[in-house]
Amino acid sequence: MRIAVTGCVHGNLDLVYSAVSALEDPVDLLLVSGDVETIRSPSDLPSVAGPKWHRHLGDFYAYYSGAKVAPVMTILIGGNHEASDYLWELHHGGWVAPNMYYLGGAGVVRFRGLRIAGWSGIYGERDYSCGNFEGHPVTGTDRISCFHTREFDKWRWLMVREPVDIFLSHDWPTGIAHHGDKETLLAKRPTFEPDISSGRLGSAPARSVLDTLRPAYWFASHMHVRFGAVVHHGAEDSGTQDGEHAEEGNADEGRDVEGVPEWTTARAMAGRGTAKTKFLALDKCLPGRSFLQAVTVPDSSTAGQPGPTPPTFPTQSIASGDAPAASADLHYDLEWLAIVRATESYRSFAKDVEPLPNSTTDEFQARLREAKEWVRSTLISSTGTDVLGIPLSFRHTAPPFTPPPDVPGKKATAKKSASDFGADVAPSQAYLNSQTAAFCEMVGIANGLNPGGVQG
Ligand SMILES: [Zn+2]
Repeated sequence: MRIAVTGCVHGNLDLVYSAVSALEDPVDLLLVSGDVETIRSPSDLPSVAGPKWHRHLGDFYAYYSGAKVAPVMTILIGGNHEASDYLWELHHGGWVAPNMYYLGGAGVVRFRGLRIAGWSGIYGERDYSCGNFEGHPVTGTDRISCFHTREFDKWRWLMVREPVDIFLSHDWPTGIAHHGDKETLLAKRPTFEPDISSGRLGSAPARSVLDTLRPAYWFASHMHVRFGAVVHHGAEDSGTQDGEHAEEGNADEGRDVEGVPEWTTARAMAGRGTAKTKFLALDKCLPGRSFLQAVTVPDSSTAGQPGPTPPTFPTQSIASGDAPAASADLHYDLEWLAIVRATESYRSFAKDVEPLPNSTTDEFQARLREAKEWVRSTLISSTGTDVLGIPLSFRHTAPPFTPPPDVPGKKATAKKSASDFGADVAPSQAYLNSQTAAFCEMVGIANGLNPGGVQG
């Protein structure tokens, strides 16, 4: 399977998709590790963190409205510049636009059997141990805290036992710079030096997840520079094998990281993951930057997963009352559904939270096993297969945006910032997203995310 990975999009979706289309060999999937800026209309701009002049409408609104369709299946996570109210509607994951699937605050899916996990947001020490206390639409400092990763999700990540092929995060796992060509990185970005030296560059919780889950690949962005590395798990002093790392993992400008002969062996190893994780961060999506990478990965050998099929293009919307068709390529991950079912009642919406239970106790492990059995017997047995396709159930919540007739041409409009739409742009409402409601019902959990939202 051939996939493309991109760095921070920052609204430049047209550029990304034209670059993907220009690749010599077509890809089956595009992965985006945050800062997509899924801004549906000017009303989403107040939820984007950053100064007003920095908030731009970008290209996404046309993919949301249906004026354009993503030409390749796109799986994304959130970063620290996002339409936060919109992403919150889909915090358990869902389609943000046809053919564009958001993994949620934390989530795992399978694309043609390939197991893809993603953790949205960036580390922020002050908010890490809080609940999801922000109200929506977000105001004030909640516009920043809402994209900070939470201990609740790290607690859930450490429950994952089955091997993960690809993990997406926005910020880098701490210490990753020591596993690649640090000198070249520092030559490009000398200001990183103090944080690298003190071990504060990136997310320590993400590093803990990397070391525990040991995915075959880890893709990130956020730092707006291209950097490749290889983490050797279990190596006694993995940070000192610079020669080997440079040879295997360094992604010089234009150099590909595809062709991974160790993959099959590594995947077959006992334990929770692979012997090594290949890390790659890419630059921001701007002309002339190194923002796109094609990677060839072996097709999954997971029993019961369908083989390659042509990409699907979810329909724009589903007529009321019709059961949506399920994607042939994108499936729910059964272990993750079980973890969500077993843990969602521990999610807090308060600032101060009770300590989370120890998930390694016999009692909690029994809870997880029970949830897994429930997923299998209740959700899977009725499908007659081993997989559960994600419904193609994208629907608008906020009204789609059409550029005003007095601003002809997309580019002129897309570049407009929040202030161009007037200081009095009304924030988007909190919507009840039907995808989230359906997900909660399917897994048997309460919808605490947007129960009082306006029906979209
Ligand atoms: Zn960025």
